[in-house]
Amino acid sequence: MHEMSIAQSLLDIIKEEMRKHNARLVRSVRLNIGQLSAIVPESLSFCFNVMTSGTELEGAKLIMEIIPLRGTCKECRREFEIKNYAFECPFCSSSQIDTIAGQELSIVEMEVD
Ligand SMILES: [Zn+2]
Repeated sequence: MHEMSIAQSLLDIIKEEMRKHNARLVRSVRLNIGQLSAIVPESLSFCFNVMTSGTELEGAKLIMEIIPLRGTCKECRREFEIKNYAFECPFCSSSQIDTIAGQELSIVEMEVD
């Protein structure tokens, strides 16, 4: 399952951060999830809960925000939201588009004790 390996790498990052800050427990972790990352928040939450159960991370909450897909046009240089996965510039109809947001998976904030 896609989300299982993602939950695993999240755990690695979180544990690393805990070590750095001498944190004993994590209350919540805020994540930005790009629309294009194909992550299902419910599945990720589920995997995370399963993997943290019985560990020092048990009870940590994942707060996830979905980041819409955005791109810039290489022709007219404008920025816009990419809707319905239509990789075409709404201004000049060019298909030369750079994706600038929406693929990421990042930890924005962690609340620790
Ligand atoms: Zn354009």
